[in-house]
Amino acid sequence: VDDQFLPPPLQLDDKTRAQKITTRLSDMMLGGAELRRVGAVFERELERGLQEEPSSLQMENTYIPELPDGTEEGLFLALDLGGTNFRVLLLELRGGQLVREDVKQYHISDALRLGPGEDLFNFLADCVLDFVQSEGMEKESLSLGFTFSFPMRQHSILSGELTTWTKSFKCGGMEGVDVAALLQRCLHQRGLDVTVRVLLNDTTGTLVAGAHIDPAVGIGVILGTGSNGCYMERADRVRHWEAAHARVHDVCVDVEWGAFGDNGCLDFIRTDVDREVDANSLLVASFTFEKYIGGKYLGEVLRASLAALARDRESERGEYAVTLRTLEGACGARLTEADARVAQHVAAVVSNRAAQLVSVSALLRRMSRPYVVVAVDGSVYKRHPRIKSLMQRYIALLAPEHPFSLLPAEDGSGKGSALTAAIAARMASRSD
Ligand code: BGC
Ligand code: MG
Repeated sequence: VDDQFLPPPLQLDDKTRAQKITTRLSDMMLGGAELRRVGAVFERELERGLQEEPSSLQMENTYIPELPDGTEEGLFLALDLGGTNFRVLLLELRGGQLVREDVKQYHISDALRLGPGEDLFNFLADCVLDFVQSEGMEKESLSLGFTFSFPMRQHSILSGELTTWTKSFKCGGMEGVDVAALLQRCLHQRGLDVTVRVLLNDTTGTLVAGAHIDPAVGIGVILGTGSNGCYMERADRVRHWEAAHARVHDVCVDVEWGAFGDNGCLDFIRTDVDREVDANSLLVASFTFEKYIGGKYLGEVLRASLAALARDRESERGEYAVTLRTLEGACGARLTEADARVAQHVAAVVSNRAAQLVSVSALLRRMSRPYVVVAVDGSVYKRHPRIKSLMQRYIALLAPEHPFSLLPAEDGSGKGSALTAAIAARMASRSD
């Protein structure tokens, strides 16, 4: 494996142990040749998705009509559903600037995340009611942007059906249901004069929020609980197309790269640990790529890797105590210094692979512009101590002829949703 793609080697006094561990982890260390192969497969799947040929990438039209131009105005509610918490926001834009932002977080119980979809949507509407009451605005007429961070098949900027649940959601009875219409019905049932104006994915929100900061933004990436990206594609390259939009030059495409590899096209990088993580997940045999890079899974990949090392050690020397300690180490129990080094090294290997794979999918090679800014958000991107610099390094190595920069787009789901609702309102008033 190519040195420039490897994390720093494991240094232990016990050289034999270090060597064994390195061999054991070698499946997870991807070199330049393998990563370029992943990149080539990714590009083939992108192309097929755009042509509506069988592909693990959904390549969905998001119907974002245009990007911010600094004239966005108005008061908007925004809903952000998909990650750890459900958030309701009230955002006010004046001359494109955010002048007010009130936020409330709501916890979604397991029962709601795994129960009937109707219950979930009724709960979302209850939260909106609670929120507008706490703002003293329950009598007002308000526009809402709904950031629904799941794969959808959109038919317009304000309608779309869920394709499949991901992350920690698995509600029943959602097949063929328009999520914006369902939310609208639940809001009306509570006597709220709130109108759903836009339905969008969090990557789209991130791209729009990023473009508001820097017009050179052409790609939006989320590296959080889940992972995904969207980008501005030339309209004439997209087959997924509904007539009303035929006049548009560029279209924002939601790639849904979390599902990359669900058709087996990435099996050449799959390890035993990945198979184990998948088998123990809520949604088995789905979202293969996301399970290598999403925050929901990275800890599991680490835990399963450490457990495999501990099992090796047990069978080699019958040192049951060491096994136990290594496993307990993951939960904060006492470790030897060498064990701690091993655990740290495995975490670096797991993170390194995640950074490499998300960099492969960074979409830059797809862009025809000379310089592209990538707007990025998500808990892993924000909090992981090394992911930013690793991505910077690997994207540059894998797409050397594409100058780029990474732009943190804080709260793309919230701001992006309000900005998109404002853009939609601006366009509607223009055509009146
Ligand atoms: C979903 C995407 C979303 C991503 C990041 C994935 O599980 O399928 O739609 O953008 O998570 O939240
Ligand atoms: Mg989020």
